[in-house]
Amino acid sequence: MAKIRVGILGATGMVGQRFLQLLEGHPHFAVTALAASDRSRGKPYAEACAWRLAGDMPAAAREMLVRDPEPPLDCDLVFSSLPGDVAGPLETRFARAGYPVISNSSSHRMDDQVPLLVPEVNPEHLAVLDACAGAGPGCIVTNPNCSTVMIALALAPLAARFGVEAVSVTTLQALSGAGYPGVASLDITDNVVPFIADEEEKIERETRKILGRLNGGRVEPAGFAVGAQCHRVNVVDGHLAAVRVKLGRAAEPAELREAFASFTALPQQLRLHTAPERPILVRDEPDRPQPRLDRDAGRGMSVTVGRIARDAVLGHRFVALSHNTIRGAAGAAILNAELLLAKGYLKSL
Ligand code: NAP
Repeated sequence: MAKIRVGILGATGMVGQRFLQLLEGHPHFAVTALAASDRSRGKPYAEACAWRLAGDMPAAAREMLVRDPEPPLDCDLVFSSLPGDVAGPLETRFARAGYPVISNSSSHRMDDQVPLLVPEVNPEHLAVLDACAGAGPGCIVTNPNCSTVMIALALAPLAARFGVEAVSVTTLQALSGAGYPGVASLDITDNVVPFIADEEEKIERETRKILGRLNGGRVEPAGFAVGAQCHRVNVVDGHLAAVRVKLGRAAEPAELREAFASFTALPQQLRLHTAPERPILVRDEPDRPQPRLDRDAGRGMSVTVGRIARDAVLGHRFVALSHNTIRGAAGAAILNAELLLAKGYLKSL
C-alpha cells in the first residue's frame, strides 16, 4: 500500500519536531509538507527550525521549504500542532478543503462533531464522524491536552471495573509543555509556578468528554466531577499527576493495581504501529514514577502509575506520569491517525 502523504502544521515547534521524529520511517505515513508561521515561510526547514530534540533533524526534512498553514498543501492529511489561538479557523479551512485534520491543538476538542480521542479509551467516539459522512474526506479529530491523556488513560480501567464518582488531580508539568522558548529561566529556576493558563479547565472538561458515553451520535460527558490544580516545574519532559479518586464501590488497592496492570485495548489488539505493548505500566517502588526515569517507557507512549494507596479523603490515590510531547501530543495524534486508518476512515485517500 502506498504511504499516505502528510503535512505538519506548526512543524518548527516542540510538538512539530516530535511529529517529524516519530514519523521518520513510519510504515503508513510519509511527510511531504511542512508549515509554520510567516517567520518561517519560504525558508528550508533546517534554517527555520531550531531543532531541540536529541539526535539529528530527519535528513529528508532539511531542504523542505516551510509553507503557510493554508490549503492547498502537497499532502493528503495534516497533523496540526498550531497554537490554540490560531488553530481554530486554519484547521476548519483544511477540513473544508477535504483534508483529514489530526489535531493536537485545543480549538476544536469540545466541538460536538469532533472526536476527542484516546484510542485505548474511547475509540467508539470516532462514530461522531459518521454523522457528517458524505461531506467528503475532510474532518477534524483531536487528542486531549498533554495532562488529560494520562489522567483519562489511568481512569479508564477504574471506571470500567469499579465506577468513578469524583476525581481530584494535582499536576506537576514539564517545561516543554509550554513550547519553545517557553517559560523564562529566571521564572522557573529554583521555583514552581502554580499557574498554567487554561490548563485546569481543559483537564476538567476534556476528561469528562473522553470518558463520556456516545448517545445518538453525540458524546454525553461522564457524570462525575473532576477538579484540577496545575503547576509548572523545572523538568524538561514528562508531566506528573497526583490523582485522588472516589470509586463507585469498595476496592482493595491491589485490585486497582491489577486493573491498571492488565489494561489493554483496541490499539494493542490491532497492533497499531505507535501503540505501546502496555498502555499502563505499574511501578511498585515507593519513589516511582519519576519524570527522568519513566517518561520514555513504551517509547514515550506508556503511562506509568505508582503510589497506589488508600486515601483518607476520596478513598484511593495514585501517581501517573507520561511523556508530554509523545503520549501527550505528537504520539497521541499519530496513534489517532493509525486508528482512523485501521477503521477505514482514510479509505478515500
Ligand atoms: P511551540 O513550540 O511554540 O510551536 C508553535 C508552532 O506553531 C511553531 O511551528 C510556530 O511557527 C507555529 N506558529 C506560531 N504562531 C503561528 C501563527 N500565527 N500562524 C501559523 N503558525 C504559527 O508550541 P508547541 O509546544 O509545539 O505546541 C503546539 C500546539 O500543541 C499548541 O496548541 C499546544 O497547546 C499543543 N500542545 C503542546 C504540548 C506540549 O507538550 N508542548 C502538548 C499537547 C498539546 P514558527 O516557528 O514559524 O513561529
